[in-house]
Amino acid sequence: DTFASLGLNTRLCANVVKVGLQKPTAVQRECIPAILRGFDVVGTSQTGSGKTAAFALPILELLGVDPYGIFCLCLTPTRELASQIADQFDAFSSGILLRSCIVIGGESLRAQASALSSRPHVVVATPGRLVEHFLYNDEIVGAFSNLHSLVLDEADRLLEPGFDAELRIIMHNLPSRRRNTHLFSATLTPSICAIQEVTQKTAFHYEAQSN
Ligand code: AMP
Repeated sequence: DTFASLGLNTRLCANVVKVGLQKPTAVQRECIPAILRGFDVVGTSQTGSGKTAAFALPILELLGVDPYGIFCLCLTPTRELASQIADQFDAFSSGILLRSCIVIGGESLRAQASALSSRPHVVVATPGRLVEHFLYNDEIVGAFSNLHSLVLDEADRLLEPGFDAELRIIMHNLPSRRRNTHLFSATLTPSICAIQEVTQKTAFHYEAQSN
């Protein structure tokens, strides 16, 4: 199996090689084609199994088709994870005009608000800070009106008490029309099964053998 055989274009495949990935991991083999075909995906596999590339690569492929407005919102529980995810998007998109934006606590609200208003292609955010933007600024809510993909990374943690209220506010403010929702997590918890009910479409499930 190669990344090309999963349906990724030659530019992305070249970037993947540059980053040092040789062949797809199991979660990538299963989830990349499913996301490319338009399924919502629930992917369960351990940390370090290559989940970030499993959603970042097909989203970058799809982005080429409809590059207007904020295309992808990726929510993750910590600032560190947000930076790592944004770094992977950037590395995979070398030579592709991709604007990404990190929205995390501890940094200037104003700079982030202006970055969000300029409608980058990919926004990687922690829930608390994004909620702050949504509550203060309707224009920022509007910037998400063409959202194509919502990714919940470490979905099990995002759905724990503490985050779930923020998540609800965010999801309430996002358009549901045309949107895909992908949940990635190390464990399949009852809350993940519950949120699937809001994802409208029949999702593709991948669960790693060792889970
Ligand atoms: P993640 O599960 O997304 O946190 O990825 C963990 C690490 O695995 C990252 O440092 C990736 O660069 C690396 N990785 C992701 N996909 C592959 C692959 N197909 N082959 C080798 N390493 C990979």
